[in-house]
Order: sequence, then C-alpha cells, then structure tokens
Amino acid sequence: MDKLSDYAKGLAKTSLEGAISYSDKIKGLNLDPYTLTDADLDFEVEAIPPISNMDIVIYLVLTNSYYTEKQMKAYKSLTPYKYFEAGFVEKVGVKQVNGYMLLVGKVQPPVQHSMHGREPELHVWIITERDGGICTAHCTCMTKLGEVCNHIAAVLYAVEHVTNLKNSTSCITDIKSTWPVPFQSGLQPVPIRLMDWGPKKSPSIKVDVKPMTNDEMCSLLRKIQDCGYESALMRIVEPFASEIANSSKKTNNLQ
Ligand SMILES: [Zn+2]
Repeated sequence: MDKLSDYAKGLAKTSLEGAISYSDKIKGLNLDPYTLTDADLDFEVEAIPPISNMDIVIYLVLTNSYYTEKQMKAYKSLTPYKYFEAGFVEKVGVKQVNGYMLLVGKVQPPVQHSMHGREPELHVWIITERDGGICTAHCTCMTKLGEVCNHIAAVLYAVEHVTNLKNSTSCITDIKSTWPVPFQSGLQPVPIRLMDWGPKKSPSIKVDVKPMTNDEMCSLLRKIQDCGYESALMRIVEPFASEIANSSKKTNNLQ
C-alpha cells in the first residue's frame, strides 16, 4: 500500500486490534480511502452504485446484526434514516478501485445543545460491488472493530434515495437537487430546531421614556404617601421636603 492516512496511523497506536481490522478492510482496494481528497472523487449522481433497500437490509441485518428484521420494518424511524432526512449526510463521492465501488462521505454529528460548539464531522467510507452489494465500511467514530454505525447507515440511505430517484425519473436535474454535494463555504445548513441558540435571553426592549413633569412627580409621591410609605425623593421635592422638615422640628421640640 502506498501510504496510510493519519487516521490509520493513529489507530495503530491506540488499538492494535482496530488497526488489523482496518487493514483487512482495505486490502482489496490497496489504498487507504482516508488519503483521498475531493479531487480524487466523482460527485456526480451518475457515478453512484445502485444500492437498494434490500442491499441495506442484508448489510445491516444479515451481515452485521446491527438491527433486527423487526426494527428494519420501521427503518424510517431509526436514527440513521433520521440523520439522512435531517440532511446530516454532507457529501458523498465515488471512486472505482480494483473493480470495487468506493463511496467516501462526510456526516455531520447532531448539534449538541451545549456551549462546546459543534463536534467534528464523521468521515465514512463504504466499499460496494458494482451492482450495489455492500462489502464493508468504516467510520471515524469507530475506535475498535465494527463495520457499521449510524453514520455509515445514514450514507447508505442517502445513496439508496438517489438510486430510487434514478430509477423513477429520467430528469437528472431533479436528482442532483437532492444529492449531497460538496459545500464550498464550510458552513453547513441544519434544521432550525437543531440549532444551538445558546442560553435563552429575554429580548431587550428599548422604550423612550419621557421625563416626568413636576405635577406628575408630586402626584406620584402623594400616592406613595397616602399608602403610608416614604420615598427618598420626598426630601428634595416640594411640598414634601418642607412637610418632612416641619415634622422633624415638631418631633425635636417635643423631645
Ligand atoms: Zn460513525
């Protein structure tokens, strides 16, 4: 193999078992998919292998026992499909290698409602046959053994979605509008309900308050006084100031 990715080298340091498993997965390709860049991949919908729902069921249920047949009957309620529906599958490119179809994709993690910002995106690759049969797969969320995770399954559903569209329409523009393609800006759209809005804060409303007139001030202080209370303002606003001064004198005289 020409070269290994930093991910594969890191795996060798942290988990020998994981590194051996990873090496086994990619030996048919004779390359490490994580060394590929966007320039090495074909992002056109025409390039994707025809992965069907049956291919996904075989891979998730029969090959890897990730889900049971019963769970797969409601696959649209499972997390991977929700990820796909929510648009977390960012982009998927394809490369033909040694007779296999290699899919390389990125999946955004769900937005965490915390102050720690967004988690790093997950890098997924999947090896399939030309007819869509799924051979093996890997994701950067995996630290040890395993050939499936929610992110891999989400990418599979994105590919299956496009396969279905390709089979049902001849208008390639319609398909392209729904196929995850690379974003140029680095900013990824997420549903509003998943955005991290930070701590809730009352909107600050600025209202221009006119200064009180003397009459309004006196009226307010009189109401306060009538209720049996005093205000510090009464010591400087007439006629309250005089009333207080006189009251103090009387008290002193009595003493
Ligand atoms: Zn994953």
